[in-house]
Amino acid sequence: MPEQACLYIVPTPIGNLSDISHRALGVLTDVDLIAAEDTRHSARLLHHYNITTRTISLHTHNESARSALLIEKLLSGTSVALISDAGTPLISDPGFTFVAACRREDIKVIALPGPCALTTALSASGLPTDVFTFFGFLPVKQQAKQNVLEHAAYTHHTAVFYEAPRRIKATVDMCMRVLPASCHFVLAKEISKTFETYISGSAQTLLDYLNLESAHEKGEFVLMLHLAKEKDEDLPIEAIALLDELGSLLPPKRAAAVVSKHYKVNKKQLYEFALKAKES
Ligand code: SAM
Repeated sequence: MPEQACLYIVPTPIGNLSDISHRALGVLTDVDLIAAEDTRHSARLLHHYNITTRTISLHTHNESARSALLIEKLLSGTSVALISDAGTPLISDPGFTFVAACRREDIKVIALPGPCALTTALSASGLPTDVFTFFGFLPVKQQAKQNVLEHAAYTHHTAVFYEAPRRIKATVDMCMRVLPASCHFVLAKEISKTFETYISGSAQTLLDYLNLESAHEKGEFVLMLHLAKEKDEDLPIEAIALLDELGSLLPPKRAAAVVSKHYKVNKKQLYEFALKAKES
């Protein structure tokens, strides 16, 4: 029986052709076959690096059929590298059906680390990176888009979206209308290309930038947002309820001390909350 081969997932540059690792070039040179999202698009990269490996297409419309064919090849010893038009395959790109099928067949899958607009934009954003959610492309339908944006903001984690240039202005405009003014945005445009730009601030700041000149709306975009929690949102609801009860019986400082002891929450925060409640 022939020895089973391995599938390599190989990230390719998202703008700057130099952003490809030695290892990635070695794999693309050495494998028997490269499955590419668009073989003509990838030909430019392969030609640039004098890679002459045979290519075959694997895109959204033929992925199921191609997966079956490629699995047969892998099982009979043909090594395969999967690439997309740019960045990391499977990240808002084809490949999921194929990789899942490889796993089911116990075919070895090796992913190489490399370029990805999501992680690159996030790392430069200045937004919290300890917990974040990637939503891929936003829905096109207005209500669905609004629902996703609101859901994303109120997780209070950094949210990352890919957005098409023809929709970026309308999306930022929607953010301005439906999300709180305190929501912080970063727009990463044309990462690793000549006109790489990061715009940071309110939705209005981003909209002003996009409206300034028509060139600002062109290119590739990663939109990120973070809605910080109001300080009071950290307080357990039961603690707030007790503080309210005690508010009419005790001075704020004393009420805060009692609740703090009972619920093990910060006394100063409770005191400030009690003072605010008294004023309002
Ligand atoms: N697989 C790719 C990756 O790893 O990032 C993403 C492919 S997805 C089809 C293309 C989207 O990624 C673009 O519409 C844009 O939102 C984002 N993107 C890709 N390259 C980018 C770049 N150089 N600058 C900003 N965003 C980029």
